[in-house]
Amino acid sequence: MTRPLLSALTLGLTIAAATHAAQASAWSYQGDTGPDRWGDLEAAYETCKTGLMQSPIDLSQANTVADVPVSVDYGTVPLSVRNLGKTIQADFEPGNYLTTSGEVFGLAQVHFHTPSEHTFGGATLPLVAHFVHVDDGGALAVLGVLFEEGEANPELQKIVDAASTAPAGVSIDLTALVPEDLESFRYMGSLTTPPCSEGVNWHVVETPLSASAEQIDAFESLMGMNARPVLPVNGRLVLAPE
Ligand SMILES: [Zn+2]
Repeated sequence: MTRPLLSALTLGLTIAAATHAAQASAWSYQGDTGPDRWGDLEAAYETCKTGLMQSPIDLSQANTVADVPVSVDYGTVPLSVRNLGKTIQADFEPGNYLTTSGEVFGLAQVHFHTPSEHTFGGATLPLVAHFVHVDDGGALAVLGVLFEEGEANPELQKIVDAASTAPAGVSIDLTALVPEDLESFRYMGSLTTPPCSEGVNWHVVETPLSASAEQIDAFESLMGMNARPVLPVNGRLVLAPE
């Protein structure tokens, strides 16, 4: 890992996110600036309309069964959360990693959607965390962790609390935000927000974690509905775990 390069890339992502926050009115999840119009809003968003490898998709359309080796090397890290309006995002310094099929990606940030974006035969789960990773060459890999309603998750609560109060000196145990079993649906897709850039290594973990109804409600009231509808598979290879 080339740390300075990774830092520069992480910074780039942060700047991009901040730029989007500044243009909060440019796109949305409904009406004239909603998902079916994203590709017409700006030339830079054209891939949202023309791309053939877009995300999310319905994962019941997986067409191959294969166990992809996926592992994470996450730790307990300082928590820094921003409410970007359309999502809640925590940014991380380099030092946490995803390894998939032998390739290593560094964790840059995690953000959330209600409901889950990826669907299962049309059904959604109420909340998903997207862990966004980048490798030395700038390629992106996302690990999607689904949440179903059940027991509260104490580490998730730290993010809920930080989204409104921005406390100093809080650490978060990232290992509590991913299941032990990382068997995942896997395919090549895109960012699910403009500019909908493709070439994203998607992993959606089959085993959900639980979050309390109060925690799910808190994310919903902070972000609103922020799930892009599913897009066609278009003949892509979509792997389902065994
Ligand atoms: Zn996302």
